[in-house]
Amino acid sequence: MVEAILAGVLSTLEILVLEYQTDQRFQIVGTPPVWYQTLMGSEQAYPATIQLVEAFPFLTYFLEDALQFWQVPQPQMLESGLWIEVDQSGTEIPLTASALRIADQRILLITLSQTIYTEKSVLIQRGRENALVQSAERKRAAEQLRHSIFYDWLTELPNQSFIRLRLLDALSHIKKDPNGYFALLYIDIKHFKAINTRLGLWAGDQLLMMVAQRLTEQIRSEDIAARFGDDDFVVLLKSLNDESEARNCADQIFRHLLNPYNIHSQEVHIQFDMGLAMGTALYQQPEDLIRDACTALEYAKGQGTGDYAIFHQTMHLQSLTRMQLEHDLSRAIWQNELRVCYQPIISLIDGSLQAFEALVRWQHPTLGLLPPDQFIAIAEDSGLIIPIGAWILREACEQIQQWRSQTHLPLSMHVNLSARQLDQLDLLDSIRGILAETQLNPAGLKLEITETMVFNNLEYAASILRQIKGLGIQLSMDDFGTGYASLSYLHQLPVDNLKIDRSFVETIGTSGTESEIIQAVVQLAHSLNIDVVAEGVETAEQANRLKTLGCEYAQGFLFAKPLEPKEAEKVLHQNFASLFTAIQV
Ligand code: C2E
Ligand code: CA
Ligand code: CA
Repeated sequence: MVEAILAGVLSTLEILVLEYQTDQRFQIVGTPPVWYQTLMGSEQAYPATIQLVEAFPFLTYFLEDALQFWQVPQPQMLESGLWIEVDQSGTEIPLTASALRIADQRILLITLSQTIYTEKSVLIQRGRENALVQSAERKRAAEQLRHSIFYDWLTELPNQSFIRLRLLDALSHIKKDPNGYFALLYIDIKHFKAINTRLGLWAGDQLLMMVAQRLTEQIRSEDIAARFGDDDFVVLLKSLNDESEARNCADQIFRHLLNPYNIHSQEVHIQFDMGLAMGTALYQQPEDLIRDACTALEYAKGQGTGDYAIFHQTMHLQSLTRMQLEHDLSRAIWQNELRVCYQPIISLIDGSLQAFEALVRWQHPTLGLLPPDQFIAIAEDSGLIIPIGAWILREACEQIQQWRSQTHLPLSMHVNLSARQLDQLDLLDSIRGILAETQLNPAGLKLEITETMVFNNLEYAASILRQIKGLGIQLSMDDFGTGYASLSYLHQLPVDNLKIDRSFVETIGTSGTESEIIQAVVQLAHSLNIDVVAEGVETAEQANRLKTLGCEYAQGFLFAKPLEPKEAEKVLHQNFASLFTAIQV
């Protein structure tokens, strides 16, 4: 009988600092910091031996930490390979390893060894002083280890650890040659979670791979694209002549990313946030540059213009303000600081009041009354839009229900829905609950959506919107004409109402062609049985022109600004016809 029966293989990972002695002999001089061992749950004091499965997610953190711990400004990757460790009894243990030079005589060694479990579960123990003999023939196995340490498993792009090392190189080069330029781009996929929810995790993975592919296609040979985290990517742009070259590269990359993606044989439009930070000799650590590129990204997000931003010192202050606002906003509902104003929507046919649009305001304790443009984007990013959106909807439904029963008029209430709410899994339940609570007839509610919200996944959006319609609620397409200016998708969506954006209304009387655009939109809408509301009507001339063009409804300062409930109550029985028909006389 063979005494030892193979019962299993245990992979272990060791991270050691070795000091070169003589004759290819190394002395172990250090192990990871104590907290690290604790983190790994390893009770063993020395050497730190941890299970591979647990170790990998932490490895990148460790590398970072170890480099700081041993104060390594510029680690240099040494050979990776298969090493043979010989223990004191002379037994040879094969292990794959990667070594980083962290000082002249010192290397940081990351080893992966496979210990054989016998029936008796004998773990082969190793001595503390080992001789390491490199075995060149089996380099491939070690390459795999190195690959898993420095590359992302999904996209095959370099990962965070890799890019940090390259940033260290770039920073040290620029210190030697302060006239050189390099830059870091930080890229984030907008609403990535929603893509996972809507299309499935597989589609999310596909998208990440496609983004990686696009980055690889677009960068120059000297640049490095890396996956930095879940849906975050970075690009290190090297050897630039000046800042404008960085901008050109960034422009090209950004534009290339925005082209539609094909997922599940569907054309999907994806938006991105991107920040650019120029590398200068003033930066000490890669972290500082990464932080600044991120700050620029957050700034771009806050702007909501769909463009990327270049880092500037003043952005730090803005990002602090933004963080403060987010913090304050999280308490705004409970502190009763939010309020809803109501702007009348008028019939252009007879000047009667048809509906209101609910528009939120925030009475900030120190900053005063804030318009939605200053906090809706923050609410969307932080997810606070879900409770805030539900609060606004409840408030608006309650209000219109009260006015409807007071006046016996079939008034309706328009409420803006944000993209994030459309992805909310229990949106329908939430709406149903609010309707039941406020006893509002669903026909008295119109939810406003925008083109951008639906366009990136038409099929999904259409199915949610159909379910909303199924509740008896109407839908209105807001800001029409500002998004993709594509009319072809309109018939696929169950909308009852379309709001022509203020930018078109504004130009009435200034150029002939704008009227033609409005006319075309009105005709198209009517052919699909959709009513048209003109937004931002400020003059009687605009109102009359819109009426002539066949537009049914109008909203704007000509009639009323968004009003506090008490003010709005005063216009419930008002007829607005004299405000625009008078000038025809
Ligand atoms: P919007 O949905 O396009 O709302 C119309 C905006 O145009 C309102 O700005 C309104 O005050 C303004 N406006 C109306 N008539 C005129 C006019 O004649 N001239 C000019 N210059 N402006 C006019 P407001 O209230 O600042 O809201 C800005 C945006 O914030 C809204 O644009 C909407 O996208 C968002 N928002 C407002 N309330 C909510 C809300 O409750 N939920 C969500 N998700 N978004 C909201
Ligand atoms: Ca609106
Ligand atoms: Ca609008």
